[in-house]
Amino acid sequence: MKEQIVAATDENSGKRIDIANALSIVRPQLGDRAGVALYRLLRLVALEDIIGRGAGATAYVAGKKLGQNLGITKLEDFLALCQAISIGVVQVPVLTPNRIYVDVYECVTCSGMQPVGRTLCQFEAGLVAGVVQAITGKVTKAKEMTCIGGLGHDSCGVEVLM
Ligand SMILES: [Zn+2]
Repeated sequence: MKEQIVAATDENSGKRIDIANALSIVRPQLGDRAGVALYRLLRLVALEDIIGRGAGATAYVAGKKLGQNLGITKLEDFLALCQAISIGVVQVPVLTPNRIYVDVYECVTCSGMQPVGRTLCQFEAGLVAGVVQAITGKVTKAKEMTCIGGLGHDSCGVEVLM
């Protein structure tokens, strides 16, 4: 009995958590919505507290791996996902074979913040890079060029080069 309790509480044991399992949400009273505050506190305060300024690079890699593994095969499906999970109001003003530019208005990570003098939305940039790489099969690299809460722009602009 004691051994079972130890095994169940050891965070190094147990199964890997895949996307489908993480998105199995059963909250009869609260549903599948939580405040933007929860995500921001995790991404901008807690993560930066532990990793420091490297949090941005970590967030980019996390977003890119996730974007590659979502099973998205069409740009329209990605835009629908962004709307479904309220990442922001997403527009794609540039779409060429070698370059894509994405504007995120009302960005979940940063919209409304007092500018802090650096870009903040590396997770979103990585996510876009990963999804575009999955769709096109080309190696991508994305960079956040403008940022609402980081630098005071109107949108968080992500440039993806292939
Ligand atoms: Zn942003």
